[in-house]
Amino acid sequence: MPLIPLRVLLDHAAENGYGVAALNVNNMEQIQAIMLAAQETDSPVIIQASRGARKYSNDNYLRHLILAAAELNPTIPIVMHLDHGNSLATCQSAIDNGFTSVMMDGSLSEDGKVPSDYAYNAEVTEQVVNAAHAVGVSVEGEIGALGGIEDGHGAGLSEEEAQEHLTDPDQAEKFVADTGVDALAVAIGTSHGAYKFKKKPTGEVLKMDLIEEIHRRLPNTHIVMHGSSSVPQELQDIINQYGGQMAQTYGVPVEEIQRGIRNGVRKVNVDTDNRMAITGAIRKVFSETPEAFDPRKYLGPAREAMKEVCKARMIAFGQAGHAGEIPIKTCSEMIDFYAG
Ligand SMILES: [Zn+2]
Repeated sequence: MPLIPLRVLLDHAAENGYGVAALNVNNMEQIQAIMLAAQETDSPVIIQASRGARKYSNDNYLRHLILAAAELNPTIPIVMHLDHGNSLATCQSAIDNGFTSVMMDGSLSEDGKVPSDYAYNAEVTEQVVNAAHAVGVSVEGEIGALGGIEDGHGAGLSEEEAQEHLTDPDQAEKFVADTGVDALAVAIGTSHGAYKFKKKPTGEVLKMDLIEEIHRRLPNTHIVMHGSSSVPQELQDIINQYGGQMAQTYGVPVEEIQRGIRNGVRKVNVDTDNRMAITGAIRKVFSETPEAFDPRKYLGPAREAMKEVCKARMIAFGQAGHAGEIPIKTCSEMIDFYAG
């Protein structure tokens, strides 16, 4: 099956009331873990790479690995998405390398660290929309800034500072009208990375009611939740049981994400949970069989552990069972849609 643009998948998700996990990758085992989970649950998938991942892996490796996944899984629709593009040039290079969807994060300046202003964000995002839609590629924008830093993106805001950069619903409405983005990432108090909340989040710090307000005003815009790993206690415990030193932390509870999905959230970014599953599995092998040195002996269990997290999210978000229903359209088949 060919790779498809994000818009095709999220339109189907909106019509059918489910969300889709957007899963970050840098290597073969992570892509295989996602595809095994997709096969076992009959799920369409969003595979995404950040700028850091592209630098680490190289676009050629990423493209061919994802094309291999498509070849080996003819029944699974796959979106290949750029996570947190920082400029028109970055997004254009992703488009040139086969990505079917790009995020232009103009909520931050081009350095990817300092929060920008509205005028800059709207202008650069509109430029990316024009370039991407001309070739049938989808675009995600962001309004408001998230806390934390992961893979060099995120404003590095603390949990408290992130509360000062929440998405303003008026601005969100104007931004969608000004730019024409397909999907909109919003800031509701979550952060990138493992350290999101110091205690189990309440409505005081995780503003799910803000999502409901944005969805009321923009019922046709696909909302994206970033920093939405749940950071499960059992994954923290496995890491620490086998010699890791992760401080106690809390993520976004799956039931809060499900509440978001009932209110217009269609793409849910999950990275940390998979990283933790991989790390815990590798630590366990190293601890229990210190004599082992075949990478397959630890990368295999790591892949299996990530697959289990992916499966759990695919089922919880509701994408499971929908792979065969997506009306397949390639980027070139979406050019007219965007021109119309
Ligand atoms: Zn993000």
